[in-house]
Amino acid sequence: MTQARHDTAHNTGTLERVMQCQTLPTLPGVAMRVLEITQDKNVSTQEIAATVQNDPALTARVLRTVNSSFYGLNKPCPSITRATGLLGITTVKSIVLGFSLVETSRRAGINQSFDMLAYWRRAVYSASGARLLALSTNACDPEEAFVGALVQDIGVLAFASTLRDEYDPVVSGENDHDKHLAAEVECLGTDHCRAGAALAQRWRLPEPLFECIRWHHQPERCRPEYAALLRVVASAGYAAAFLADVAAKPLLDRFVVSMREWFGIEPGASRSLLAQINESAQSLAKSMDVKAGESADLSTIMAQAHAQLIENQVEMQRETLELTRQTVTDALTGAYNRAHFDREVAQAFDRSNEERVPLAVLFCDADRFKSINDTHGHQAGDAVLKELASRLAGSLGKIGTVCRYGGEEFAVVVPGADAARALKVGEVARRLVCSAPFVVSSGTEQLSLAVTISVGVAAHHPGVGHTFESAAALVHAADECVYEAKNAGRNCVRSKSCTQGSPTAAAAADRAGSPPRGDAAGGAARQQPASTLRLLAVEDDPLAARLFTFIFSKERGFEVTVYATGEEAMRAIGDGHSPDLILCDINLPDMTGVDVVRRIKGNAATQNIPIIVISATSDGDTRARAEGAGADDFADKGAFAADSDPWCMRVRELVERSRGMGRRSAA
Ligand code: GH3
Ligand code: MG
Ligand code: MG
Repeated sequence: MTQARHDTAHNTGTLERVMQCQTLPTLPGVAMRVLEITQDKNVSTQEIAATVQNDPALTARVLRTVNSSFYGLNKPCPSITRATGLLGITTVKSIVLGFSLVETSRRAGINQSFDMLAYWRRAVYSASGARLLALSTNACDPEEAFVGALVQDIGVLAFASTLRDEYDPVVSGENDHDKHLAAEVECLGTDHCRAGAALAQRWRLPEPLFECIRWHHQPERCRPEYAALLRVVASAGYAAAFLADVAAKPLLDRFVVSMREWFGIEPGASRSLLAQINESAQSLAKSMDVKAGESADLSTIMAQAHAQLIENQVEMQRETLELTRQTVTDALTGAYNRAHFDREVAQAFDRSNEERVPLAVLFCDADRFKSINDTHGHQAGDAVLKELASRLAGSLGKIGTVCRYGGEEFAVVVPGADAARALKVGEVARRLVCSAPFVVSSGTEQLSLAVTISVGVAAHHPGVGHTFESAAALVHAADECVYEAKNAGRNCVRSKSCTQGSPTAAAAADRAGSPPRGDAAGGAARQQPASTLRLLAVEDDPLAARLFTFIFSKERGFEVTVYATGEEAMRAIGDGHSPDLILCDINLPDMTGVDVVRRIKGNAATQNIPIIVISATSDGDTRARAEGAGADDFADKGAFAADSDPWCMRVRELVERSRGMGRRSAA
């Protein structure tokens, strides 16, 4: 095995003392045996099952985990043999090792004062994270990443069980794992990577695990064949540190930066990954009987991650801020999402008019996609969507932006393409999709499916070809052509509206869309704010308050005053501070948002001020109560944070409406 190559001097004394200590944890015999027999590639599933079943408690826990939502099996799996067949040897090995480590740490006689909760929280978040990152980057084997991340810190267990009182103060209360390591080096003269590596050798752990344990703080120093594995494990560690302590901004930065540098994953996509990691860690923790701590509410995490990204970027640059502020990626397919499409097409439309260059929009809709779901299941449907996104991006990615418009429909913005070129581009996309069957797996079986798309194309060419009144009209025309393609028998491209104005298209441009549904012509940035609007926010959560002031910024024509309690807000309004609109959190320290709405709407002097109630939960009940009391609109905090442009428009719309009412009642 490769022991540390260029290790700098460290305190061999402490390490020797740790390794010779009687209380050093041992790995349960069953786990040792499973590790041993799985070194042989030809080991049979029966042999593994027989070994695991020597320990009935372990068997029960492995089955519970296999059947938990973490692995998402369709049908319950009754036996270890079947589990090994379904999920593979590595998966079962990782679960066995995971439980054995939990068991080891329980038996290790570690001081009460050692924060075992924090230890396992990190292990579980890292392991779930590593598996997800490996799956989404294809960088390495997901199960190997899972178990590598799970065991990376066994050195900490070695210290905690042998040094005991000496170790506790070294690391107590430290969530930042790099600082944790620095504290060890300073106080002990050695660190948990070295101790873990020594323990891994004693336990005869396989080489990839040894590398994860030894080099997770210096991924660049591992053996080259494990470089990708170590990057995945290290990134997952950063995600774990952040998720365990969502207030820590530098931890988030480190995750986002590592994702971009190592895997080319943009900040928006990293944020979605964080949410997924959080969710899968909760499910893993539950089945492993490990407390992952309070299950953090997802929208809070996202809002906080969001607020932190904002702060961070403001320090850096305005442009990058705009990019990272929004979630731009569709989680399933990795294509850009609808919100991104809306912004992109609005900007491209403006540019097209200013520079008098053509602009095309393509709509690609999978044909009879529903029947794929119906025949082969939703999982197969999802896999087809991913493959479809990847084929479209492959053929169009360099010339246009491929976005998932919704369901099984992808929209592409192609700047610079006139009607003729747009048709060709559409034809290329259509052919690429139907040229070869989609090979996808559904559960255990491989499917080979013939997939086709119907493509609608529209082009805007100011001064030369057909022009549309707005981006929305252009989008609508492309969408309508999809229906023509469907009517023409599917698997074809239609583009009538490129040369012929569509009367319905212009009408569509006038349709007023309400904000959460969005309107493609949208983008508050494009609207010239007529005058500054004064908003009054009632919000006790400082992070959310910061988010509001950021979203409703001066540049966008807003001015926000925040009050932390209902009473303060009421007093300010009574003192003559008359806002154009009120944003009110539903949960306030002294009253509910619904109470605020009642008081504002029940007073003739203030009843015309529009109120938007904001809540972390978007359940129908809360919404109905708010609207019953007279709230003008209701926003979900998560959605609000993820895509704020439509809300800026909505606020303007409500203010204009209330001014109209004011004029009418004055007349
Ligand atoms: P057509 O050729 O006329 O477009 O028929 P279609 O079946 O493709 O269109 P339809 O609108 O009838 O059905 C679309 C289906 O796509 C229905 C919906 O359940 C499915 N769908 C939407 N989003 C997803 C998704 O994310 N995953 C999966 N698996 N299915 C999805
Ligand atoms: Mg570590
Ligand atoms: Mg369809």
